[in-house]
Amino acid sequence: MARRTGRDEGDPLDPGPAGEEAPLEVSLRPRRFEDYVGQLKVVDKLKVYVRAAQARGEGLDHCLFSGPPGLGKTSLAHIIAAELGVGLHVTSGPALEKKGDLAGLLTNLAPRDVLFIDEIHRLSAAIEEYLYPAMEDFRLDVTIDTGPAARAMKIDLPPFTLIGATTRTGLLTSPLRDRFQIQERLEYYTPTELERILTRSAGILGVQLDRAGATEIAKRCRGTPRIANRLLRRLRDFAQVEGTGVITQQLADLALKRLDIDPLGLDHMDRRVLLAILDKFSGGPVGVETIAAAVGEERDTIEDVYEPFLLQEGFLQRTPRGRVATARAYQYLGRAMPRAAGQGDLF
Ligand code: ADP
Repeated sequence: MARRTGRDEGDPLDPGPAGEEAPLEVSLRPRRFEDYVGQLKVVDKLKVYVRAAQARGEGLDHCLFSGPPGLGKTSLAHIIAAELGVGLHVTSGPALEKKGDLAGLLTNLAPRDVLFIDEIHRLSAAIEEYLYPAMEDFRLDVTIDTGPAARAMKIDLPPFTLIGATTRTGLLTSPLRDRFQIQERLEYYTPTELERILTRSAGILGVQLDRAGATEIAKRCRGTPRIANRLLRRLRDFAQVEGTGVITQQLADLALKRLDIDPLGLDHMDRRVLLAILDKFSGGPVGVETIAAAVGEERDTIEDVYEPFLLQEGFLQRTPRGRVATARAYQYLGRAMPRAAGQGDLF
């Protein structure tokens, strides 16, 4: 259920992919723009919008952030509220089951507050429609009573900023998407940015991480800060129990191997997806539903988590007929490439 949070409270969100590690993220979550590493183009623009809104004494326009899990969408919502000096109210698409849930949240907002809706693509159609006038005119249309006595009433809301997060903007209906004046997509982080994140996290957690150790984790965390931080915590255990307490390159390499994370950061499921495409479907093209069934994973998880990284790393290609393994996938997994397979022969 949705709940109100002050800016300085713990992680209010359903931890999602972070699972039981959410408390760790609380302390590691960047609180101000200056702590937020990378995504420079997005951050530069947001800083301008925030300053402009503040100078006018208005709320910030509604923002939609998209990108794979763990790239910093929620963190941006926290930062924006902190920089605006307003309250943050957090909920998620699936948590808003009834109109009353949303009405309760909206009528509790103070002027210029931020309402963050994670997984906004999972709002029901009824709630979504209810949200439109709230976003556009800061107004709620409610029906009081039922039957012949039913009356329509309008409730005025304070101006507020809605921040929506989604793994893919394509999952939103266009009327909802169009109501966000600011839309930004977060990208995977570079190894250098991830090293900075890891160094900051190690400082906060009191973990000894040397430069080469940070480089090794940064290369193997799928370009994702949440995974970098999660690995840092796992490797801290290995360093403490089996090493000298310091996460060095050698320790990181050994521990990551034991965690089944390969030199490029591919994990067990990444490899299963690729191997299924190569071995069961002759390299593709194959539909995502079929891949999901073959590896026993949810279609959404394949599309939100695994596929974007495999695409970005050049192991997969998306074609109108389905997903196709590239020459790089064959090479990386040590499979001989059939003569007719590979990018060149798709159509
Ligand atoms: P999302 O909402 O996109 O799933 P989060 O904002 O919850 O991602 O980020 C997960 C964690 O990763 C954060 O708690 C924080 O520790 C770390 N993180 C994400 N983005 C950044 C960043 N740009 N700089 C530093 N740490 C980050």
